[in-house]
Amino acid sequence: MQFRNFKMVSYVVYGRGSFNQLDEILAPQRKVDAPMIFFVDHFFEGKALPNRIPLRGKDKIIFVDVTYEPKTTQVDALAQQLKAEFGMVSGIIGIGGGSTMDLAKAVSLMMTNPGSSADYQGWDLVKFPGVYKAGIPTLSGTGAEVSRTTVLTGPTRKLGMNSDFTPFDQIVLDPELTKDAPANQRFYTGMDCYIHCIESLEGNFINEFSKSYGEKALQLCQDIFLGKKPWTDEHDDKLMMASYAGGMSIAYSQVGVAHAVSYGLSYLLGTKHGIGNCIVMNHIEEYYPKGVAEFKQMVANNDIFIPEGICKSLSDEQFEAMINVSLGMKPLWENALGKNWEQIMTREKLRALYEKL
Ligand code: NAD
Ligand code: ZN
Repeated sequence: MQFRNFKMVSYVVYGRGSFNQLDEILAPQRKVDAPMIFFVDHFFEGKALPNRIPLRGKDKIIFVDVTYEPKTTQVDALAQQLKAEFGMVSGIIGIGGGSTMDLAKAVSLMMTNPGSSADYQGWDLVKFPGVYKAGIPTLSGTGAEVSRTTVLTGPTRKLGMNSDFTPFDQIVLDPELTKDAPANQRFYTGMDCYIHCIESLEGNFINEFSKSYGEKALQLCQDIFLGKKPWTDEHDDKLMMASYAGGMSIAYSQVGVAHAVSYGLSYLLGTKHGIGNCIVMNHIEEYYPKGVAEFKQMVANNDIFIPEGICKSLSDEQFEAMINVSLGMKPLWENALGKNWEQIMTREKLRALYEKL
């Protein structure tokens, strides 16, 4: 198909307190003798939020460990566990940051698709729709709530299960849920959104569809992060919509240099997505001069710590591994640098960039 036929999230609720509507939202999705499973970010264990989850019958809360970003082995184990315990489930609801939402998407797909989730890392490999799935972000920025992918680290690569079956059936955008996020984490994840906007708007794949969302998300990020202002509810409201719009922007275009380079860091060193993008963004003024200058201003205004020197003791072999992962992200490089990107981003040039980080 010449034009992307873009599968979107089916239902969206937005508003402070909309989480309270969850019972009503889920009721029509419940099947007889098949529980709803709630994947809740382990940060919330022992906190008030789990008590607000509308459990019915055999419904179950599973606190998911997101110390490391989702792995195919973790997804497969969770799907196995649910199949063994319940046979089938009515749905999977992911309540947390991008990692928890991605786990919910991936496990939903693995409830109905045979084999391992590693078999489906790539584009349009998923064969069957998963079980019903809903995403409820507690951090804003990744756009995982709207995307058609779930990013997983597998045995040989870090790559998403990109498919028309991957987007959520429902998302609940309640900015109240992001209120207790620590300032550093909120910034790193928020910058994922800012960087999505810069990479999308400055990329070769840009079109009016992506631009409309990207410009709005960028403006919201600038409202939030430029200048020194105390954090308010309004910031949480805006950042949640920025994440949504930023996600919509890249869904119809592509990300670029910061993401391509940070995927290498994440694969080798386990550097998390948000902070990894920030570490790279700090050093790529050559590609995004205005965006990087503004990013640095945001870092300073919000008193955020961005690590430096994380690659300084790596071996040649390790640099090679990161370079391989990064250069494998062909569409990202093509979006950023054009069809001749391989002549521009040589292995030597990329090595020099990694050495600076
Ligand atoms: P995260 O989900 O990895 O969580 C980061 C940390 O914040 C964790 O320790 C978590 O416990 C904690 N946390 C979550 N909500 C909190 C809250 N309200 N208060 C306090 N702590 C909270 O972080 P993220 O940046 O949202 O997500 C990154 C993940 O998203 C990566 O795995 C990345 O690959 C994925 N991602 C997916 C897509 C997609 O389209 N599917 C896009 C971008 C990123
Ligand atoms: Zn991202």
